[in-house]
Amino acid sequence: LNAIVGFHNLPNQVHRKSVKKGFQFAIMIVGESGLGKSTLINTLFNAPIAPTRDNVTMNRGNTAGDQDAASKTVDIQSFTSDIEENGVRLKLTVIDTPGFGDFINNADAHKPILKSIEERYEHYLDQESRVNRKNMEDNRVHACIYFIAPTGHSLRQLDVQFMKELGHKVNLIPVIAKSDLMTESEVAAFKERILDDIRANNINIYTPEVHENDDPETVQEIKEIIARIPFAIVGSTQTFENPPGSGTHVRGRRYPWGIIEVDNESHCDFVTLRHMLIRTHMEELKEHTNELLYESHRAVKLGERGI
Ligand code: GDP
Ligand code: MG
Repeated sequence: LNAIVGFHNLPNQVHRKSVKKGFQFAIMIVGESGLGKSTLINTLFNAPIAPTRDNVTMNRGNTAGDQDAASKTVDIQSFTSDIEENGVRLKLTVIDTPGFGDFINNADAHKPILKSIEERYEHYLDQESRVNRKNMEDNRVHACIYFIAPTGHSLRQLDVQFMKELGHKVNLIPVIAKSDLMTESEVAAFKERILDDIRANNINIYTPEVHENDDPETVQEIKEIIARIPFAIVGSTQTFENPPGSGTHVRGRRYPWGIIEVDNESHCDFVTLRHMLIRTHMEELKEHTNELLYESHRAVKLGERGI
């Protein structure tokens, strides 16, 4: 797990105090069911943490009713993992949410997800107003990965509405699910269309910031991350020997014409996403959550209470 998470430059990102105390980071995964949300969690952790359709089918046989009931995520589930690296302690939480397909009225899918985000803000607000504010827990959602179906069309009305709402509450990170189902040029065209929709609808997405005193190398790195948004994702915890007979094993998905590698930056944007989340922008995502997103929630809530 440590090898795969690899947040080796974390001490540069965080203040000395939080290095000692350890700190918390929570990623929420949102999207229609069947788009590979649970698989992404398992790919990020490199372990079978979240039940996916595949292992449900394996464990329970293939009766349609059974599979349906078991594979759809009904409750919001969170998976936490304590990681220590270079003397830095990190409590990483991944929150898996119900998929849209699971609701009779898709608009209802928004409710538990938005509620969960707000409850986490409320929990933090409660802690802030205590006399003793030592040992505050930060269970707020610091990044929200939104799965877009690989249709190649524009965003659906459902996506637009939901992303609009989410963008004001969390650091919204749009991704193209199962990008291995599209060709490279289809992915490129789809990204353009999604970005057009995001602009046209004033959807607020998280974009890493270039700071005045960043060195040229950092600026270049940030530009490369931005150029890949929305990230085209391939998830898989299966490994294959690639090329065959080489003794080298890679995570990926196998096709008659070859293997799409999860951890290969020329095959998909999984590595860029993981690096941004864990290696380079974890601290900025936390700051943004605290100083902008949480702050505006807090201002509204205190306003309502007449404080
Ligand atoms: P969830 O309902 O969003 O949590 O989706 P799951 O993670 O359970 O995955 C649903 C199905 O899609 C499973 O059969 C996965 O193997 C498959 N899947 C997951 N990620 C990918 C991907 O990146 N590409 C492809 N082609 N299939 C995927
Ligand atoms: Mg799932």
